[in-house]
Amino acid sequence: MSTYVLGHTNPDSDSIVGAISLSYLKNQLGEDCVPTRQGKISAETEFILNKFGGTVPELKTSYAGENVYIIDYSDYGQAPADIKEATILGIVDHHKLGDMITSTPLECWIRPVGCSNTVVYEMYKSFDVEIPKDIAGMMMMAILSDTVIFKSPTCTKVDTKAVKELAKIAGVEDYKTLAMDMFIVKSGVEGSSARDLNTRDYKPFDMNGYKVGVNQLEMIDITALDDKKEMILEDMKKMKEEDGLHTMIVLLTDIMKEGSQMLVVSDDVSKVENAFNVKLENNQIWLDGVLSRKKQIIPFLQPQF
Ligand code: MG
Ligand code: MG
Ligand code: MG
Repeated sequence: MSTYVLGHTNPDSDSIVGAISLSYLKNQLGEDCVPTRQGKISAETEFILNKFGGTVPELKTSYAGENVYIIDYSDYGQAPADIKEATILGIVDHHKLGDMITSTPLECWIRPVGCSNTVVYEMYKSFDVEIPKDIAGMMMMAILSDTVIFKSPTCTKVDTKAVKELAKIAGVEDYKTLAMDMFIVKSGVEGSSARDLNTRDYKPFDMNGYKVGVNQLEMIDITALDDKKEMILEDMKKMKEEDGLHTMIVLLTDIMKEGSQMLVVSDDVSKVENAFNVKLENNQIWLDGVLSRKKQIIPFLQPQF
């Protein structure tokens, strides 16, 4: 029986590449692992897979009765609906510890670094397994994406070192230019509906019984969204109703200006205002220096609930 490796719903590049890189490592160690994904891949991930000749993992949304490794999360809110009927053999992640519980002893690799693939990179080293060129290239790109080319406050020395070493293996000299090309692809908004944009990197959180949804768009220039902002806010109100959210937040993150325009719809905006010590105007506010949802948004929001 194969073991499935899966990242979170609404998968980003770290989740997809992580499923691939962790599966390969486990297979080298004598296990039988298959990388899977819970949803469709993003334009950014497609760019990475095309660049390094990676295969899109198979789509799988039900895991009852299966053995699994989880990568890039540990919250039930981001897991497949029947995850409680699966056996979780291990978790590899770089977020706050979520609410997942296991029934058997767990292999756990959770570190406060910028990317799950940095943790996987450390695993390759500790098991003394050579990283193939194509996988090294994809891991490098996943780290550059999650750390916003080292600009994110989540980025550590371990991440930058991993990128440099992976770039060598992948034979990529100018990885920063390649990463900028990736962010140009990621910044594409033309032809995207408000719902496409609002779900692009959407994560639901359970905050003390209240549902809070936070989406993030990381872009080279957020002024490209100036004429779509009203449409985005209207659709946020709809999503809030549909999903029974207390609060929905969209972060329009400008990676060049290094900050985020935060859009908010909420049953009680004062919770958001207090969290960041700001006053919203027209449901929004610019947060200078804010690039990371996991480090600069969630930890401040959570205590308000
Ligand atoms: Mg992720
Ligand atoms: Mg990640
Ligand atoms: Mg991210």
